[in-house]
Amino acid sequence: MSQNTAESYDRDRWHGIAADAKDHFETRLFIGGEYSDSADGGRFETINPANGEILAAMSQAAVADVDRAVASARQAYRSGVWSRMAPRERMAVMYRFADLVEAHTVELAVLETLDMGKPISVVVSEDLPAVVNTIRFMAECIDKIEGAVTNTADDAMHFTLRESLGVVGAISPWNYPLLMATWKLAPALAAGNTVVLKPAEQAPLSCLRLAELFVEAGGPPGVFNVINGVGEVTGKALALHNDVAKISFTGSTEVGKLILQYAGQSNMKRTGLECGGKSPHIFMADTPDLGAAVEAAYHGIFANQGEVCSAGSRLLVDRSIYGEFVERFVNEGKDAYVPGDPLDPATNMGPLVTREAQDRVLGLIGRGKAEGATLHFGGGVPAGLEAGAYVSPTLFSDVDNSMTIARQEIFGPVASVIPFDGADEAIAIANDTIYGLGAGLWTRDIDQAFRMIKEIEAGMVWVNCYDSGDMTQPFGGYKQSGHARDNCMESMKSYTQLKSAWIKLTTG
Ligand code: NAD
Repeated sequence: MSQNTAESYDRDRWHGIAADAKDHFETRLFIGGEYSDSADGGRFETINPANGEILAAMSQAAVADVDRAVASARQAYRSGVWSRMAPRERMAVMYRFADLVEAHTVELAVLETLDMGKPISVVVSEDLPAVVNTIRFMAECIDKIEGAVTNTADDAMHFTLRESLGVVGAISPWNYPLLMATWKLAPALAAGNTVVLKPAEQAPLSCLRLAELFVEAGGPPGVFNVINGVGEVTGKALALHNDVAKISFTGSTEVGKLILQYAGQSNMKRTGLECGGKSPHIFMADTPDLGAAVEAAYHGIFANQGEVCSAGSRLLVDRSIYGEFVERFVNEGKDAYVPGDPLDPATNMGPLVTREAQDRVLGLIGRGKAEGATLHFGGGVPAGLEAGAYVSPTLFSDVDNSMTIARQEIFGPVASVIPFDGADEAIAIANDTIYGLGAGLWTRDIDQAFRMIKEIEAGMVWVNCYDSGDMTQPFGGYKQSGHARDNCMESMKSYTQLKSAWIKLTTG
């Protein structure tokens, strides 16, 4: 069922599909192209955050299962069945994989919404098309990766070539379960590696189905394996494994630092880290269109319940437009996102992922109030939705960059407006953070924009828009937001290594 068909479904239809899906959840591990239970029979529960209902008890991969999955991926890699498959053949499998994901939009969307709580309309119209796009883009890149012949003296011939790495361990977060996993597995697979994916334990259902579709598309068994389990057990064992050539990680900065340690404690494996953010979204005195800017501001922090690494959580506003900006944000942003049943296609904001996340976000809102920020709206649990992990969209103004809400990544729908005077102060506040993922900048002045782009310490700067881009844009951060780059050709190259061959020639 395609995206277009799925977009026509109403709430009752989605609830019917969800009820049917609940009878058939796959809960086991996917290793070597087959489902199997964990070695010690361990299980963990996954919960629907919209109502607290236990969805399934998932197999929890123990260290022995991680070993089994890595062995399967290593055997598949060494056999050459995928790594030495002709580029065009591998491309054909990836394209079939993308087509199958697209054809299973309804099934995958329901799993994602039940497990993680994000609105079904968003999964259907944004997340899944992005998943399909990522697989297709990486497929297109397969025979575009090139080496080089360098200029040498006549008695030698030197060339470089890019080779795959081997087994890639992918550890993904829950905020876009399918998309964040795909940002890793698509370039890793396209480059000829084999993959062991450990999805986040808060949303373990959908990626199992993804791996199954890869095999259905003609992907050889063992090339793409999925092991669910908690981070401290399954993720740690994967990151410490001596037969894993690279760990590609997306998640918190705290765990990202552990991944670096695990690499050092084991085989010095490569790491690709995409971590947290506290991104500044800056509105200069000459913001060209304040209406569009305010709209970008509330979408930039309230979309996906604020559970976005690149969320524009710090709104830096020039004091000359500060009053009008806050007033417009209150008038236009207060009801732009209305929490509700995520299986209702009219809903644009679901619950947070877990009760723990809800408690953490409400606790940080409490800190904002206690430290003197002005609360304009939100700040609590929406009426009638107490059974789920909901938090109302929330706006604070008069925030100082030293306050807890301006320093910690909240990962919820909480906007903080911070005043500044002129470009120098805007840059100083923007850079006063351990993070450096994204930054937004609104100005009419091209010279000012250019100067600020260079001075802002962030991997991505958006001018007169926020969080825009396509597959050609490298997605990733500076500083403690990590060092990996997703999407783009660079991403695929990061799953390869450079070999140099120097051939001595006999001259004359
Ligand atoms: P998290 O760090 O708690 O977990 C991420 C993954 O790491 C999960 O699969 C988890 O099981 C695993 N993990 C946890 N402890 C581990 C350990 N000791 N060893 C190995 N693996 C372990 O993060 P989260 O709560 O799932 O996701 C939210 C975080 O992810 C936020 O900080 C957000 O900014 C970040 N994120 C970043 C990007 C990006 O592209 N930069 C994208 C999405 C999310």
